[in-house]
Order: sequence, then C-alpha cells, then structure tokens
Amino acid sequence: MTGSSGAPARSALRGGPVTVTGVAQRQAWQAREFPPVEQVRSGVWSVPVTMPQNPLRYTLAYLLLSGTGAVVVDPGWESNRGWEDLLAGLGAAGLSADRVTGIVVTHVHLDHHGLSRRLSEASGAWIAMHAAEVQNLPSRISNAVGSDGTRSWLTRCGAPAEVLAEFNDDLADILGLFRLADPDVLLADGDTLDLPGREIRVVWTPGHTPGHICLHDVDHNLLLTGDHLLPRISPNIGLTPGTQDSPLSSYLDSLRAAVGFDSAEALPAHEYRFRGIAGRAEALIKHHDARAREVLDIIAAAKRPTIWDVTTRLTWSRGWDQINGFMRRAALFETAAHIEYLERLGRLALRRGSPGEPDRLVIVPGNQQDAR
Ligand SMILES: [Zn+2]
Repeated sequence: MTGSSGAPARSALRGGPVTVTGVAQRQAWQAREFPPVEQVRSGVWSVPVTMPQNPLRYTLAYLLLSGTGAVVVDPGWESNRGWEDLLAGLGAAGLSADRVTGIVVTHVHLDHHGLSRRLSEASGAWIAMHAAEVQNLPSRISNAVGSDGTRSWLTRCGAPAEVLAEFNDDLADILGLFRLADPDVLLADGDTLDLPGREIRVVWTPGHTPGHICLHDVDHNLLLTGDHLLPRISPNIGLTPGTQDSPLSSYLDSLRAAVGFDSAEALPAHEYRFRGIAGRAEALIKHHDARAREVLDIIAAAKRPTIWDVTTRLTWSRGWDQINGFMRRAALFETAAHIEYLERLGRLALRRGSPGEPDRLVIVPGNQQDAR
C-alpha cells in the first residue's frame, strides 16, 4: 500500500522482464476474477484475501505449514469477506483458524496487517514483524508527529491551502481506528521463523516501509516478496513526515540485495507469482533513475519551485487534474522521497523558507545530468 494506507501503486511502471509462474492467478487478474487458493509447494499455500473497493482487489496471504505449526504471512485487509477468504484458504489446507501458531507481516499496511488481530484472537498465535516496522504503526506515527507536525511539513512542501485543509484530518488518527495489532515478536535480518521443521529466513528490505521484510523459504527456494517486488506495478516509495530518513536510498539498496535471490520464485503479496527477480529489481532501479532525471529537469526548467510544484508537473499514471485526495498525498510523498534522495546525492539543494513559507529547490551547478 501507499504511504500509510492504500495500494502499492502510484508510479506508472508497467510490465518488466518476468516469467509468470502464477498462470491461473494472472488469468484471473486479466479476467477480473478472484484467483484460486493454490498449493504452491508442499506446505506452502497461496490464499487470496479480498481488499474491498480497491483496484488491486486482493492480497495474497501465504500459509507455511510444518508438522507442528502453521504460520500465516500477511493475513490481509480486515473485513468479514476477507476473513471468510482466509478461513476458506485455511480449510483448503486442512486447517482451522485455531491451528495457526504464528502470524508474520511483511509490513503494517492495512492490506497486510489488517486481519492480524482477528486471526490472533481466534488462534492465540503470536504476531511478528521487523523491529523497524513498529514505529510505522499508525498509533506510533500519530504520537511521533501529530497533526501540527504534518501541517508544518506540508507547508514547507508548498502544499496549497485547500490541500492542507484536505489533509487536516490526521491520517494516522483515521488509521488508528483500525486497531492494528502490536507485535509479540520482533524480527531482525537473518532470523529464522519459529516454525519447527522448516527453514524460513527473514530478509530485511526497507524502502516501501522502514521495516518491510521478505521471507526466504530456503527449503523450496521461494521468496515471499510482500510489496517489495511485484510483477507489474511499482510500490510507492514515499517520504512521510516523521518516518524513515531516506526511503528511496533504502529501497534501491534493498532492490540490489534482492538480485541475489534471482534463482528463487517470487511469491508477491499482490498480482501473481513470477520468476526473474533480478530483472524485475533492475527494471525498478531504472524506473527510479528515470524519475530522478525527470525531477531534476523540472527543477532546472522552473524558477525555484517547491516540492508541491514539482509534484504537480511530474508525469503520473493519469493526469494531475484527475488525482484527488489520498492520491495527491501519495504523489507528494513520493516526490519528496525523490527530492530527499537527490539532495543526499548533492544534485539539488533545498533552500529553507522562513517560518510559514515553503522551501525552494535549486539545482546544484554541474549536477543536472546523470542522476545516478
Ligand atoms: Zn500491499
């Protein structure tokens, strides 16, 4: 999902050099049908869970089974329909909810972590996430930043008054209504999940969120990629007030790290399974390179623009006038992530505005070309 709440999509990257292995999933995707529950390998099940009123339509939860336990990865969006989907998937694998021993979320967005609480209450299962993801829980963000912090950040970005008013309801407070569960277990890179008889390793892939993880099923050489790598769309990489320092630098590093898993089949949290992890990661890196160049070109052509000015001039998957509400915020966060990345590289400079005034962007001389 984008930012703190939605779907992973925002940038316009489509396709990529992948080999689709989830053939039935892709057929269902193209036919706009719900994909089937599938046994991917012995003890590995793919379970689509409904995302109501969202173009991505479903989250792919995964069941990892051993003789003594069952772990659910990314239970999905909290809804009665989604809960029924999850129970149906467990049933197909011969399980009831009370047999689940553990829940792992790749990150805490609603379409992954939403049902964790209900599943944990039904089963007594522990909930695990990366230690760096805890700060990304909406309740923690709300405490750390607050609405005043968000408003002053938006002002510095140059967001106009009507957008400030639109953002007035603190997103974190709204998301807090979903009562996302706190973790019982904190994971670190290289940890093995508590699933006796199976070797499932944690691969920390910060970027989409600070504590995003992939899981490597060593026995079957499968990489559960969460939203880090999806076959068709590019996950939103956004700089949000009060969260991680440099999400785009982190994401690019995590993409480079994913190249080492090229021999694995990718089991993503949306769309369909695929092979070609290295090619997909490289395509995403190129996509962000091109985006960085576009940002620099816009700043060079404009007169000391604000981050908001740049956001409105970038190419999006639809025209700016058709992007509203939450999508505008996601676009601003994504642009801010590129700006921060380029500032860090010394390609541009942010001239701080006086209190109540926005920051202004200027190119550092000699650095307009070659954003890499
Ligand atoms: Zn997602």
